[in-house]
Amino acid sequence: MSAWRNISLWMDQVGEPLVARPSLTHDLDVDVAIIGAGYTGLWTAYYLKRQAPQLNIAIIEAQTAGFGASGRNGGWLMGNLLGEDRLLAGLSAEQRRASFDLLHGIPDEVAQVLAREGIDCDYRKGGALYCAARYPEQETSLRRYLDKLYAQGLTEADYRWLSPQQLAAQLRIAKPYGAIYAPHVATIQPARLVRGLARVVEGMGVTLYENSPVTHWQSGSLRTDKASVRATWVVPAVEGYANTLPPLGRYQLPVQSLIVATEPLPNSTWDEIGLSQGQAFGESSRQVTYGQRSADNRLVFGARGGYQFAGKLRHHFDLTDSEVQLRRYLFGELFPQLKNVRITHSWGGNLGMSRHFRPHMLCDQRTGIALSGGYGGEGVGATNLGGRTLADLILGRDTPLTHQPWVIRGGGLDALKAWEPEPCRWLGYNAIIRSFVHEDQVLANPNTAPWRRKLATGVAQFMEGFMH
Ligand SMILES: Cc1cc2nc3c(=O)[nH]c(=O)nc-3n(C[C@H](O)[C@H](O)[C@H](O)COP(=O)(O)OP(=O)(O)OC[C@H]3O[C@@H](n4cnc5c(N)ncnc54)[C@H](O)[C@@H]3O)c2cc1C
Repeated sequence: MSAWRNISLWMDQVGEPLVARPSLTHDLDVDVAIIGAGYTGLWTAYYLKRQAPQLNIAIIEAQTAGFGASGRNGGWLMGNLLGEDRLLAGLSAEQRRASFDLLHGIPDEVAQVLAREGIDCDYRKGGALYCAARYPEQETSLRRYLDKLYAQGLTEADYRWLSPQQLAAQLRIAKPYGAIYAPHVATIQPARLVRGLARVVEGMGVTLYENSPVTHWQSGSLRTDKASVRATWVVPAVEGYANTLPPLGRYQLPVQSLIVATEPLPNSTWDEIGLSQGQAFGESSRQVTYGQRSADNRLVFGARGGYQFAGKLRHHFDLTDSEVQLRRYLFGELFPQLKNVRITHSWGGNLGMSRHFRPHMLCDQRTGIALSGGYGGEGVGATNLGGRTLADLILGRDTPLTHQPWVIRGGGLDALKAWEPEPCRWLGYNAIIRSFVHEDQVLANPNTAPWRRKLATGVAQFMEGFMH
């Protein structure tokens, strides 16, 4: 199945033959049926089996393990959640601290599993550098963000400001204004994690069926073209592919993110740039950029993509010239020496955005449906939390995981907030993104008048307000 190698640099380098597992051709009766073999589905199976080895679990995957975002992402394994500040706002100071500790501990939990199960995915916990790197307004907004974190009870041990000189000890960029350093972030080779997890859960007795798209699902059962599955629990774990399983598409918008990777760069170039500890880095505009130095010394760099009308999935990720050039421009601003470097891989993927722009973990004992999603481009770590949480919820365990504000207890799918119908979604999403791009263009030009800079930021902030 060589086509699966073209999914991403990571799948190309996975170091194992991408041979399809058997597809589902006969009816099944299981305790837990999981739809989708990405991190969410696999972590859920892993933690269920660890606690309840007797469970009969099947994972039914449309293509192959890692076909989705889990085999394509930027490899930031973060100890936090999208929108956590809003999620935790209503808690007491102690509860908030406990929740932050739980989140910050995600990379260490993953590291323990990797060691226990023998998964090698180039895990390096070097932290993340959120850089003010292109215009001075980035410093102002990062400092404001840091103040907000400290006001929530976080300290310098959780996030700290780096002056341009301090930043230079880790990363040398053309226009350093400073950075926030977050220690609780690791970088990984994403496809090796998802393929490794698939192998491990199989070893624990979970059955994986590939090339088996689920066409219908409901409480207690699901169907593919060839067979039916009856299950006490059904766990749809399809994230950016929610449209393939109505009515999930109402609650989760498919958004694309796009990445490029350079050829391996010589040590002399990395001596100039830094990133010697596996740090993740991004520049802090509203373009949402993310980068890492891969274990084989490439620069891997991504930025937000788009949203297609009616939530249509993007299936082809041969990036256009302008999509590649935008990413080259953005990393070239940080590293002028790389402006003409050879880009060997470019790809992208669909991720899921919930209407609240924050994740949810839901378990409905009445219908036997459990799901975790809405990670919004920050799911590499969050899926681990999601898998652990769903396992506890399904097994009826009362643990700190099941009492977090992102857990929806006692409700079904209708407890989730639905997206507005089209064309509102498309118009809204594009208006917001346009305001971000406009702001970025205005601020990146040092000659624009101060009033225009303020106006562009004001409009972008106003539009961002609609996201919450
Ligand atoms: C380009 C890109 C970069 C990203 N970078 C980062 C990052 O650096 N850090 C971070 O934290 N997050 C990042 N993310 C997000 C992160 O990758 C995802 O949140 C995470 O991988 C979601 O895992 P998942 O298992 O829920 O979904 P997926 O990995 O998408 O898995 C869903 C699976 O379901 C299968 N499926 C879909 N429909 C059906 C069906 N009908 N029947 C059966 N199977 C089906 C798919 O084939 C797929 O294998 C990025 C995402 C993208 C696209």
